[in-house]
Amino acid sequence: MPYTDDDKAHMAAALAEAQTGFDEGGCPIGSVVVRGGEVIGRGRNRRVQEGDPIAHGEMDALRRAGRQTGYRDVTLYTTLSPCMMCAGTIVQFGIPRVVIGENATFGGNEEFLRSRGVEVVLADDPDCRALMERFIREKPALWAEDIAEAPPE
Ligand SMILES: [Zn+2]
Repeated sequence: MPYTDDDKAHMAAALAEAQTGFDEGGCPIGSVVVRGGEVIGRGRNRRVQEGDPIAHGEMDALRRAGRQTGYRDVTLYTTLSPCMMCAGTIVQFGIPRVVIGENATFGGNEEFLRSRGVEVVLADDPDCRALMERFIREKPALWAEDIAEAPPE
């Protein structure tokens, strides 16, 4: 399935979460989990806000969706290409479809997801990218910490 108008609306919701995270002083990565056109969980990276290194946007959205009997009928939206922790969770939960806002500022796990049968849709959304670029420019040390790289000199 290509990037539809519904996808666009859900990506806008994920981006709104990312913007809230940015305004809170955190990493601006947002995510929503959707079933049958309804958002069942929304979240954002709260690593800084909650001091929780595992609280990536996707993990936060899944946590806030609460227990589910299954994930075979959901789509996960994330403003940024998932890290390996989140990609592993997507595979672990059997989520069949992931829509990614952008993968210009971070990426590399799309092939892993596809190799495990996940449909990956790249939105290539300029607003998602602009927010991440601003964050990386303004807070390079915080970003390095998020992707477990050595801090910039
Ligand atoms: Zn992640």
